[in-house]
This record gives sequence, structure tokens and C-alpha cells, in this order.
Amino acid sequence: MTPAARQVPAARYGERLERARELGLRRRLDALLIGVGADLRYLTGYEAMPLERLTMLVLPAAGPARLIAPLLEAAPARSCAAAAAGLVEVVTWQETDDPIALAGELVAGSPVRRTGRLDAVAVSDRLAAAFVLPLQAALPGARFSLASAVLRELRMVKDADEVALLCEAAHAADRVVAAIGAGPLAGRTEAEVSREVRDRLVAEGHETASFAIVASGPNSASPHHAASERRISPGEPIVLDIGGAMGGYGSDVTRTLWVTGGDRRREPGPEFRRLYTVLRDAQAAATAAVRPGRPAEAIDAAARERIAAAGYGAAFIHRTGHGIGLEEHEDPYLVAGNHEELRTGMAFSIEPGIYLEGRFGARIEDIVVCCPDGPDLLNEGSRELLVVDG
Ligand code: ZN
Ligand code: ZN
Ligand code: ZN
Repeated sequence: MTPAARQVPAARYGERLERARELGLRRRLDALLIGVGADLRYLTGYEAMPLERLTMLVLPAAGPARLIAPLLEAAPARSCAAAAAGLVEVVTWQETDDPIALAGELVAGSPVRRTGRLDAVAVSDRLAAAFVLPLQAALPGARFSLASAVLRELRMVKDADEVALLCEAAHAADRVVAAIGAGPLAGRTEAEVSREVRDRLVAEGHETASFAIVASGPNSASPHHAASERRISPGEPIVLDIGGAMGGYGSDVTRTLWVTGGDRRREPGPEFRRLYTVLRDAQAAATAAVRPGRPAEAIDAAARERIAAAGYGAAFIHRTGHGIGLEEHEDPYLVAGNHEELRTGMAFSIEPGIYLEGRFGARIEDIVVCCPDGPDLLNEGSRELLVVDG
């Protein structure tokens, strides 16, 4: 058994709430309205249940931060890190109350507006339309915008506690890849192997196993293939892309395996070997290109140029990577057109792939943190083609 993942210290939530307020003020926002999801967890530590009942943090530009929660969720709401530390006040509502009216009163009653007029609020991107539309009606005259304008700025750059959690998750996922790579694989179905991946992710300390892509043979050419009843045969590749969350923070690693079943005649042929070498070099080049100040799209270009030069340009059908943290996919995205400059503390995947439809494909993925002097690779498993004899 591995020890339980570390936790983000309570003081950190105070800093995050203050910074969110500051950035909100700079954007002339009267309040941030943060519903259930990663934004709420980031600011308060509260992993709230997504219900049809309203749970929402009201963070005004000045005055107390309040967490609106249904009465039946009072216990978990009050025990979240920010509430337990006295940083947010939990305000409950009963089944017969109108939580939207309550939210409206809390926003309108906050002491920020010298003008006496409510100008602008921002709602978290994941707040359901079923809440947003009534809130708009309850706050007439207020301009509504997306709170990601503030939250992405904060969440994109990871602090040391977050990097430590990402690192633990990455190492746990690496151990699962190594265990699967030890075999046996030939003769088993993708679904069986996928179940083993999920069990192992949990055994290695993940609270959830979110995905376990096992794409064998021609399925390896489909980047998000769902594990099927197909039986793995000697003489074919497997794209293994697995991940989950530890202490809320994601793991996401891909390795490409080749199954021989112990038969030397089933080793990878020259075409697959060449494809894999091109991919490995492209992934290494993209990783080496990571540096503060570089635009995100430059990392994508570093991989894409090499893959295109080898003649596989049309077979690299997705962006090079995505940010990772409390969400599996978040800012920054490593994609052409994203001029966002990389900053120290940003964490993202680097995962180019080459996919020849109907035949085979390969992908290599690591989680990388941008450091002052270059990339810090959180995943440590070998990036060479993993040849499995069993
Ligand atoms: Zn993906
Ligand atoms: Zn992945
Ligand atoms: Zn990924």
C-alpha cells in the first residue's frame, strides 16, 4: 500500500481567495460566482457533489466570502479546508428556500459598490445554465462574464504543493504502466487489460481511475479508442493511455507497447520501428523546447515539424498537449494558434501521436512542468518502444 496523497495546506486557500479577488477587481468585477467543480475545489478545497440544488461560492470584491450550500450538504461544506479555517462562511438554504434569491441578496448586499449599482459578475465556466439564467434575472443590470478569465490565470500556474501532487500521481501511473508492460498481454481482451489498469491505479493510491485506453492492433490508430472485447494478438502494438486523480490532481501517461507473445517472428517490422523512432524524437524535441517565455504553440510546432518532415504530417491528428491539474484537460493547450507564453509552474502533457488508419498507430505522453531552466519531466518510464514477450 502507498501512503495517502498529501493535501494542500489550508493557508494556501487564503492566498488563492485573495488573489482571485485581486484579479477580479482588476477586471472591475463585483463578484465571482463559483459553482461546483474544479474552480470551487481550487479556491476552497470543497469537492462538492454536483446536484440540481445550488452550491456556489460568492466571492465579492470586498466583504466576506460565502459558500451557499443546501442544508443537507452542510456537514461536508463546513468541513472543507477554507470553511474549517474560517476563510469562507457557509450559508445554508432549506428545501423550501429560493437559493437564487439568496445568492442575489449576498451579491447585492456586499459592501463594494460606492455607486450603489451592480455592474459586473463572473460565473464559473461549469455553472449550469439552469442556475445562470435565473441568476441573470435576479441581478438585473449586471453584466455576466466567465470567471475563467480570473481562474485560469491562477490555476494554470501550479504552486509547489500542486506540483508535488502531480508528481506523486505521475509516478503511481508509471508503476502501473510498468506492471502492465511486464505482461502477459497476448490472448487477453483489451477490456480485461483495461480493468487491470483501473484496479492498479487505485491500488497505487489514485482515488479514481478516470480512463484506461487499451488500443490494440488497428485500434491503436484511434487516439481515444474505448477498450473493447478485441483479443490482443502477437505481432501488434498497443497504445496504453491511462490516468486518474490523486489528491485531486491528475495523472495521464501514454506508452506504446509491442506484443510478440514470445515469438521472434512477431517482432515489430521496419515500418513500425521507423514510425516509432520519428515519434520518439518528435516527443523529445517538443519536451526540450519547453522554456518560460516560449509560446505554447512553439511546443506543438517542435513536434509537428519533425513528424511532418518524416512524411507523417497528416497522421498527427491532434494537438500536442493540454494543461493538467484538478482537471484532466485544462489551460494551457499546446496547439497552433495559442500564443500564451509558458510560465514557470505551468504543467501540461506532451503527447504527439502518429496514426495510420486501419493499420496501426503510436503515441508517447509525459506530464511536464515548465521550470526556470527548462522542462521537468514528472513521468519517468522509458520512452523506448516497450516490447512485451508475454
Ligand atoms: Zn486525450
Ligand atoms: Zn493521455
Ligand atoms: Zn493527455
